[in-house]
Amino acid sequence: MAKEKQIAVLPGDGIGPEIVDEAVKVLKRVARMFGYSFTFQYGLIGGAALDETGQPLPEETLHMSQKADAVLLGAVGGPKWDDNPGDLRPEKALLGIRKALQLYANLRPAAPHEQLIHNSTLKEETVRGVDLIVVRELTGGLYFGEKKRERTEDGEVAVDTLVYHEHEIERIVRKAFEIARLRRKRVTSVDKANVLESSRLWRSVVERVAPDYPDVTLEHMLVDNCAMQLVRRPASFDVIVTENMFGDILSDEAAILTGSIGMLPSASLGDGNIGLYEPVHGSAPDIAGQGIANPIATVLSVAMMMKYSFGDEEAARAIEQAVHKVLDAGYRTADLAGDEHTTLTTAEYGDKIVDMLEK
Ligand code: NAD
Repeated sequence: MAKEKQIAVLPGDGIGPEIVDEAVKVLKRVARMFGYSFTFQYGLIGGAALDETGQPLPEETLHMSQKADAVLLGAVGGPKWDDNPGDLRPEKALLGIRKALQLYANLRPAAPHEQLIHNSTLKEETVRGVDLIVVRELTGGLYFGEKKRERTEDGEVAVDTLVYHEHEIERIVRKAFEIARLRRKRVTSVDKANVLESSRLWRSVVERVAPDYPDVTLEHMLVDNCAMQLVRRPASFDVIVTENMFGDILSDEAAILTGSIGMLPSASLGDGNIGLYEPVHGSAPDIAGQGIANPIATVLSVAMMMKYSFGDEEAARAIEQAVHKVLDAGYRTADLAGDEHTTLTTAEYGDKIVDMLEK
């Protein structure tokens, strides 16, 4: 019997609908190959939702996403809504949906494809062999703590509060160890334990949890050192786990190792199997509607969906391999094309990936 899954599809703005179409194409073929019955339910989010309903994250979208087994998101935002006030900005929907689905772990892999290594700003020999994932705590820390701004006799004062509860640290750290078990079994926990009390708690929780995963090697690293090692010896990392703000910065740093924004997938996970899958890039309004966007980041995001929400590593690998084969065959979208390549449109690229899919 086919495995039934409901997927909420939220294309969003700009190139969102174009790239999401290709990822859905891939999922439909995967369903036939691996015995799934996917139901795709489409919802409004971001600017598209603002135009239609006056809200960036309508109740209906939220409700549908909460009932789904997984959510596929394109991107939100664009110049049309740039002057909107804070609560009515398209990007507000991202925080809202992550919070409502209680997605506390953000996963961003960086593994440059051999054919694209020359796109990196680092030397080829430094980037070759990089295959890492940053696991970032997404719902706590400095970004969510109490904020204050006041005038004093000394002038203005601003305060941001960095709070972490033990249980918030434990669940993200366990997630990282579990992910490491599916990979090369190496965790680097990043903190600033020489200065911050929250980091000292972080480190003690990591130490307490680690013995439950005796097959995984653990190292602690201070965040400033990690920022350096990421550009010095990035291939030595497997799973990097860290708090919200450090993860925000380090995951962007790790992203540039691959050199191409159109290639980077992401997943946001909570407890249980539900996850939200989206490319790292934005809505690229400068190329929207032209049919030239690179769909690879979104297609690799659905590979992550197969792995993390549906526990199907074989299907995930099949998608990743199909992408590699299309790149190996010299096909590129405009953002990556050189003279020696065959340039394809977004839709043609999706078709090529589907053609290359095999068990
Ligand atoms: P962006 O990632 O949209 O674009 C940066 C550059 O990369 C642009 O030149 C764009 O053409 C190119 N690019 C991005 N994705 C591409 C793809 N798949 N194929 C080919 N080229 C691609 O970032 P930005 O320009 O800073 O932001 C544009 C809008 O997107 C803003 O409104 C921003 O707030 C929003 N944004 C949304 C998300 C999200 O939805 N998760 C993330 C970042 C930015």
